[in-house]
Amino acid sequence: MMAAISCAQIGHSVVLLEQNEKLGKKIFITGKGRCNLTNACDTEQFFRNVVTNPKFLYSSLYGFDPSQVMAFFEEQGLKLKTERGNRVFPQSDHSSDVIKTLERALKDAYVDVRLHTKVAKIVTKGNEEKRVSHVQLSTGEKLEADVVIVATGGKSYTSTGSTGDGLRFAKELGLSVTECYPALCPLHTKETWPKSLMGLSLKNVSVTIKDGKKQVYDGFGEMLFTHFGVSGPLILSASSYVNRLVKERPLLLTIDLKPALDMEQLDHRLIREFEENPKKQFKNALGSLFPSKMIPVMVDLSGIDAECKVSAISKEERKRFASLIKAVPLTVVKTAGFEEAIITSGGVNVKEINPSTMEAKKVKGLYFAGEVLDTDALTGGFNLQIAWSTGHLAGSSVEW
Ligand SMILES: Cc1cc2nc3c(=O)[nH]c(=O)nc-3n(C[C@H](O)[C@H](O)[C@H](O)COP(=O)(O)OP(=O)(O)OC[C@H]3O[C@@H](n4cnc5c(N)ncnc54)[C@H](O)[C@@H]3O)c2cc1C
Repeated sequence: MMAAISCAQIGHSVVLLEQNEKLGKKIFITGKGRCNLTNACDTEQFFRNVVTNPKFLYSSLYGFDPSQVMAFFEEQGLKLKTERGNRVFPQSDHSSDVIKTLERALKDAYVDVRLHTKVAKIVTKGNEEKRVSHVQLSTGEKLEADVVIVATGGKSYTSTGSTGDGLRFAKELGLSVTECYPALCPLHTKETWPKSLMGLSLKNVSVTIKDGKKQVYDGFGEMLFTHFGVSGPLILSASSYVNRLVKERPLLLTIDLKPALDMEQLDHRLIREFEENPKKQFKNALGSLFPSKMIPVMVDLSGIDAECKVSAISKEERKRFASLIKAVPLTVVKTAGFEEAIITSGGVNVKEINPSTMEAKKVKGLYFAGEVLDTDALTGGFNLQIAWSTGHLAGSSVEW
């Protein structure tokens, strides 16, 4: 939509082909229905949140940055608000207002929007220098075009229409596509105990993930236990860094339940707890340390007899328990599938795309924008910003 608007605004005749019965089905479900449409941070901060191929995005991002995206929507009449972590939402808290705004802008720019229209194939002409000739629709109908901008999304949440067609188009036209992985998704663990804590959310914890001895992720925030493993904001971020590795081998995830305390401080805390109630059974002495649902799991993992009096716990056992609290171990065996992934990492190889225009180097008139490209970012409005920026650059780079 942004590509179509930008392209039409510089005077081109633009047709937007959408296979669904309406526009923006994925936008509708973004930000839990509120659409976190960008992040009002500076560009340096922005690139720190891009996981894959940030350098490729320099031109597009500098050309249409978060403040310009906000100005675009506000000029179209959409009031915005900025929340914690610079996350920008429509003031109405309705993602549908973002879609309506884009629809209005498409109309104002005279874009010919055709719904229920599925592209089956992009056809090129020329041998030495390939260039776009036409698109073939699923009905068999041909549509002549000098330029095609592919903005078909990734492979996640296919019910919204992002079924990976653009990746196929790219391959068919001789472009390379890097392997796709689910990203910003839950993680499955070998251990089954997370199931007993399903729904329990832990705030202010640290999570570290290691591949053998090498640390591959480290973060602080909120996580959640699920029936198959772990999820929540911290884990979603972690998944973007470990999705490739975990396909090769299991990874060790450790949760630091008391990141604000070092080992010594934590040991003192345990001593205090235990000395205050020396006759209490171990399983009954942990109420101030963890959420009650978590106590049986921690007792089990500690190897200390649940019913022994805390006064009978040896110094060694106590120290081992403190170490457990600082690093509750879980084995990550896989990520959730594309159906649960907020985004797809991998896609059209950015080496094949001119970063100053978004045009494919091998095929004249063929442009790519958005999640179909091999670039992805963390949560916070960064992925939509990538879609706006690359779409805007592609649309406004179309020559006469
Ligand atoms: C649950 C969820 C929540 C999210 N929340 C946020 C958020 O709050 N903030 C954020 O920044 N990002 C969020 N994202 C990510 C963000 O929505 C995507 O990165 C973004 O929508 C990608 O835009 P796109 O235009 O590249 O692709 P899409 O939005 O997927 O759009 C692609 C469109 O192309 C159409 N299409 C595909 N193939 C064809 C074909 N062959 N013919 C015709 N039409 C076709 C599809 O029907 C679809 O409408 C979220 C994603 C999910 C799944």
